[in-house]
Amino acid sequence: MLREPLGQPTAEAWHLPLSRMPSPARNHQYFSPGDKAPVSGIYRAEHDGHRADHNITAVRGEEFPQCRKCKTSVRFSLISGADYVRHDWDFAGPGISLVK
Ligand SMILES: [Zn+2]
Repeated sequence: MLREPLGQPTAEAWHLPLSRMPSPARNHQYFSPGDKAPVSGIYRAEHDGHRADHNITAVRGEEFPQCRKCKTSVRFSLISGADYVRHDWDFAGPGISLVK
């Protein structure tokens, strides 16, 4: 009976680690708790295994917080930038309702 050799990396297995790289892609910049968000927008929060990745909204200039559980192990990466409405010139500032 023909047996498959065990422990021999096949071409398919060789590529597994790459396809298992965590998304977002490796060239994304990661931010840690205490770092300031460079732009407002949607960020991916990646925890230290206790919770699935999820998206959060961060506002430019505000610090990323620690996680209640994995503390400073959580990482954030930008998914999609979006200006906070109060930082947009056309929506910001006092007395906008007075402008005619
Ligand atoms: Zn966490």
